[in-house]
Amino acid sequence: MTPDTILSNNNRQGIKMIRTTLITFILLLCFSSAYSQSNSADYNADYQRNALEIYRHIISIRSAAGHGKVPEVAKYLADQFRDGGFDDSDIHVLPQTLSSGEETASLVVRYEGDDSSGREPILLIAHMDVVDALPKDWERDPFTLVEEDGYFFGRGTLDDKFGITTLTTTFLRLKAAGFVPNRDLILGFTGDEESGMETTRALATEYRELTDAGYVLNADGGGGFLDHNGRAIAFMIQGAEKTFASFELTIRNPGGHSSLPRPDNAIYELATVLKNIEAYTFPTQINDITRGYFEKTAVVTAAPVGDAMKRFAANPNDEKALAVLSQHPEQNSVTRTTCVATMLSAGHAENALPQSATATVNCRIFPGVAVEDVQAKLFEVGANDTLEIEIMGEGLSSPASPINEEVTAAVSNAVHKQHPDIPIIPYMAPYGTDGKEMRRAGMPTYGVMGLFVRPEDEFAHGLNERVQVDVFFGALEYWHDMLTDLAGN
Ligand SMILES: [Zn+2]
Repeated sequence: MTPDTILSNNNRQGIKMIRTTLITFILLLCFSSAYSQSNSADYNADYQRNALEIYRHIISIRSAAGHGKVPEVAKYLADQFRDGGFDDSDIHVLPQTLSSGEETASLVVRYEGDDSSGREPILLIAHMDVVDALPKDWERDPFTLVEEDGYFFGRGTLDDKFGITTLTTTFLRLKAAGFVPNRDLILGFTGDEESGMETTRALATEYRELTDAGYVLNADGGGGFLDHNGRAIAFMIQGAEKTFASFELTIRNPGGHSSLPRPDNAIYELATVLKNIEAYTFPTQINDITRGYFEKTAVVTAAPVGDAMKRFAANPNDEKALAVLSQHPEQNSVTRTTCVATMLSAGHAENALPQSATATVNCRIFPGVAVEDVQAKLFEVGANDTLEIEIMGEGLSSPASPINEEVTAAVSNAVHKQHPDIPIIPYMAPYGTDGKEMRRAGMPTYGVMGLFVRPEDEFAHGLNERVQVDVFFGALEYWHDMLTDLAGN
């Protein structure tokens, strides 16, 4: 992720943070030998060739906000499902006009089961849009799938045409094999995850009769980590996301000539408010997801952080543990709501007393806490009666999902088949995905994408996004194992 891509995405609800920050502590730093480099020519089964063709085609479509090309992706995929034997009545391309005026679409495909399990359907989600990429900034054309040195390069190779391709191909592979699921499986591919998630909301509400499910598996969250040598070390199940909310804090003043300063001053007062907010720490919180995260990560984390994780999981008010965890931003973010000043503007002339001073404070709110409660807390902590605080954007919160044993077991089986014994760890993301819209609408959601990534290969949203070739093909086996486990007899 580069500063430029961060800026270009500033208007979205949840800017994704680099996943790897969470795993820093369980990495064994060993640079000794190179990992093996595989070649796609080694993967010759029909479904593997088909997967590569779909991946190549959808990466060539610049489905970023402003280009209006998501419907083209949806239509192409719908054709694949039709050709693969899915009934027309089970394939739904759903055009949607976004509030920006742009035309996009989502795609829903139902894999009809025989209902022999009596269990509710599973909804599998991923997003067809990508963050835009400027070809002149890339070493290779971002909209051409390039294979080089054991990697696939291109915009969306990871986020999230990886998820789209692996789910699509798995449906087609199972259909071709005559597989009949014992419960309905539903694909829900969204069209604006990176810019507003309006299509996600529509799938969860307006089109609910098409998508309603017992729970949702998100192929755009969670996933595995590799060490520098390409050896798998852990797999994360994302069961919660913090709420993204920004607040605009303003102090106003009648102003006047700067030659006649007065005791009240918008800039000084706002500065005091911000220093008060800086000094305030939100109380610690814990839920099943974060407790599980700390318990399981503690086992594979060296002291003193590992010990602190264990103590925090047992007692979220353990002062000694908090003293350690608060030193590490990526761990601290899991323990509480955080707020931080991110932008500032004030005054209108160098020789005038400021008539207003405004700061933006961005908060990442622990699931279950209302945005309005954080707003009230900022006002209280700011300790200035004239302070105005406005919520910017929607500031919608979503609950954590309960740990689901069925999902955890299926993920463990599928992952351990390829990577025996690695820990399966629940976690709460400090960023947002489509998952939060599903959770808000009452469908528990688990980020379980089949990706494995080395810390140095994490380029989602950034330049030269890439995925290892063998990881791509491994994810096809992972989803095949997942779906036959969750919906097979
Ligand atoms: Zn994504």
